[in-house]
Amino acid sequence: MLTLTRQMIEIRNLLSTIDHSDSLRLPSIVVIGSQSSGKSSVLESIVGQEFLPKGSNMVTRRPIELTLINTPDAAGEAAEFPALKMHNLTDFEQVQKVLFDLNMAVPELECISNDPIQITIRSPKVPDLSLVDLPGYIQIEAADQPVELKQRIRQLCNKYLEAPNIILAISAADVDLANSAALRAAKMADPRGERTIGVVTKLDLVEPERARNILVNKKYPLKMGYVGVITKAPNPVKHSSGIFSRKQLTGYQAFVAQQNFEHTYLKEHKDEFFGTVNGTRNLKKKLMKVLEKSMAASLRPTHYAIQQELEETSYQFKVEFNDRPLTPQMYLANNIDILKLSTTKLSQNFSRRELRSLLKNEIDQKVLDLLAERYWNKPFSLKDSHINVEPDLRELSAISNIDDDVYWHKKLDLATNSLTKLGIGRLSTSLVTNAIITEIENLVDNIELRNHPLAKAAVRDAAKSVLSAKYFSTADQVENCIKPYKYEIEIEDREWQSSRENAVNLLKEEMRQCDEAFSLLKKQIGGRKLQQVIAYLEKLNKQKTIEIDFNSNDALGFSPNLIQRGQDAIFLKDRLSLLKMRYQFVKNSKKCKKKENKYQCPEIFLDAASTKLTSTAILFLNVELLSDFYYNFPRELDLKFFNNLSKEEIETFAKEDPKIKKHIELQERKDLLETALNKIEGVLAIQRNKINQLNKE
Ligand code: GDP
Repeated sequence: MLTLTRQMIEIRNLLSTIDHSDSLRLPSIVVIGSQSSGKSSVLESIVGQEFLPKGSNMVTRRPIELTLINTPDAAGEAAEFPALKMHNLTDFEQVQKVLFDLNMAVPELECISNDPIQITIRSPKVPDLSLVDLPGYIQIEAADQPVELKQRIRQLCNKYLEAPNIILAISAADVDLANSAALRAAKMADPRGERTIGVVTKLDLVEPERARNILVNKKYPLKMGYVGVITKAPNPVKHSSGIFSRKQLTGYQAFVAQQNFEHTYLKEHKDEFFGTVNGTRNLKKKLMKVLEKSMAASLRPTHYAIQQELEETSYQFKVEFNDRPLTPQMYLANNIDILKLSTTKLSQNFSRRELRSLLKNEIDQKVLDLLAERYWNKPFSLKDSHINVEPDLRELSAISNIDDDVYWHKKLDLATNSLTKLGIGRLSTSLVTNAIITEIENLVDNIELRNHPLAKAAVRDAAKSVLSAKYFSTADQVENCIKPYKYEIEIEDREWQSSRENAVNLLKEEMRQCDEAFSLLKKQIGGRKLQQVIAYLEKLNKQKTIEIDFNSNDALGFSPNLIQRGQDAIFLKDRLSLLKMRYQFVKNSKKCKKKENKYQCPEIFLDAASTKLTSTAILFLNVELLSDFYYNFPRELDLKFFNNLSKEEIETFAKEDPKIKKHIELQERKDLLETALNKIEGVLAIQRNKINQLNKE
C-alpha cells in the first residue's frame, strides 16, 4: 500500500498544477543554507546522487521543487522533468546539465525567477519526500545587489518559508551558530521554532565536544531539534608515481564513501555523540516522519479548501459556460465538423451554373480582347491611316454577299483559332481552383476557426494540396475535351440566337466602359481644352502630318502629355462610334439573325464559340476536379488536424481563442479539483479505517 506521504505528495503535485493559491498548499520541506554550508551535499546525500548544478555565481536562480518517490522494485534511480516532458533519465550528469541550463535560462540581470523547476526522482534508495531547494536567500545580505532585487528574492523565499512548509535550516559545524544565516531566516518565518529542523553539517571539522554542544540544542532551541551529519567524505589521498595526488570520487562511489566515512566517524565518537540525533540515514527518517505528520495534519484543512475551491469553480463554470463540457479535442473536432458540413453546403451553392458564368466571364474578356485586336482597333490611326490599306470595318455590315470575301473569312478564322488555342485547360482549371480556395476561405471566416491563424492556414493548405494533386491531369483532360472545337465549331440556331443576345449585351457593356473612360478624360482635362486638342489633332490628321512640331504656333499651349491624352480621347471616340455601329448592326440587322452570316457577325460567332468551350470545360471540371475535391478535402482535413497534431498542438490551437482558452482552463481546473478531492477523500477514508482498527484492538 502507498504511504500516506506518497499519496499526499501526489495530491500536492496535482494541486500545484492548478494554481499557486495559498489555501491549496500541502506541506513540503524547504531547504535553506548559506553558500558552502553544505546545502547541496545534504540534498545529494538524501538522494544518493550528485545532481545539483555547481558553480560559485548564483547557480540556483529558480526554486527547485524536488519530488522523491520510493520505488522498492525498481532496478535503479531515474529522474524526470515533467514540464519538459523528459522522462526516465538515468544519467545524472545529464540531469545536472538540464538543471544548470534551466537555471541559466534566467538572465543574470534578473537574478531569480519565481517559476519553479519541477523534478521527480524515483529510486529504491530514496524515501517519499517533497523538498524545495531555494535560490540564494542567504547571499542577499552580503551580495551587493540592488535593493529592489533583494526585495524580490526575499519575497520569493518568504513565500516558501510560510506554514505549513517545514524549514530545513543548514548550518556548518565550523561556523558559530550565532552567525548562521539559515537559522536567522528560519527564525523570522517560524519565530517559535515549531516548523524548523536544524541540520549541522561538517561534524568532522570540529572537536566532537563542540559538535555535541550544538546538537543538544540548548542555545538556539528548535522543537524538532537538530541533526548532525557528515555529507562529504574527505577525498582519499593516493600515492601514485612518486607524488601525492588527490583523486576526486564521483557519483555513486562518492556516495558510498560518504556513507562509510560518516558511519565510521560517528561510530568512533559514539560516546561523545550520545543522546544526539545524527547521520544522514537518521536525517532521512526524521524528514519522513515530520513530513508525514504535517501532511496528516494538513489533510482536513486541505480537504476543506479543495471543497470550497471546487464549489467556487463549479459555480463559475455554470454561470459563464452553462456547464457545457469542453476539451481541446472536442473543440477541434467540433470546428472541423462544422467546416465539413459547410463544405457539403458549398457543393450545393457552388453549382455548375455558377462555375459556368465564372468561366464564361473570364473567356468573354478574352473574346473582347480578340475582337478589339482584330476588328475594332485603330480604324483611323494618326500614324498609319494614310498607309492603311485594310478594308474598314464599316464596310463589313454593308457587304451583301460575303461568301467570296476571303479577307473577312480569314479574319474570323484567325480570331476563332486564337480563342480555341488560348489554353482553356489551364485557364479554367486555375480559375476554378482559385475560386474554390476563395470559397473555403470565406467558409472559414464564417466559423470559429477564423480566430485561429494557424488553423486557417492549415485549412487553406489542405484545400490547395487536394486541388493541386489534380491540377495538371485536369488541365490536360479539359484541353483534350475541347480539342474538336479547334477544327470545327457547329452552331445550332437556338445557340446562335442566345449568343446574339449575349453579343448585344457585351457590346453595350463595352460601349458603357468606353463612354466612362472618355468622361473621365474630359473631367481630368476639362471639356474645352480636350475639344481644342482633339480639333488640333484631327486637323493634323487631315493634313496627313505624322510628326507633331511642338514649336509650331498651332501646337502652342499643348504639352506632350496633353497631346497624348488627346490621342487617347480620339481613340475612344472612334472606338465608341464603331461599337455603336456594331451594336446597331448586331441588334437590328436581319443578317445577324442567321448563323450562316457568321463572317459578318464575328461578335456573335465568337460568343457562341466561347459558350461551347465554357460548357465543355465545366462539364469536365465538375466531374474531375470538384467531385474529387468534395470527396478528398474532408479526408485531408482529418489527416492534417487529427493524425498529424499532437495533444499539445491541439491544446495550443484551442487556446488561441481567449474565450475558448478560459472555458477549457476552467474545465481543467474543475476536473483537477474533482480528482484531488476524490483522492484526498480516499486518504481520509483510509485514515478513518486505521483509527477504527486501532480502537477495536
Ligand atoms: P553549498 O554551497 O551550501 O551547497 O555547499 P556544498 O554542498 O557545495 O559544500 C561546500 C563545501 O563543503 C564543499 O567543498 C564540500 O565538499 C564541503 N562539505 C560539505 N559537507 C561536508 C562535510 O560534512 N564535511 C566536510 N569535511 N566537508 C563538507
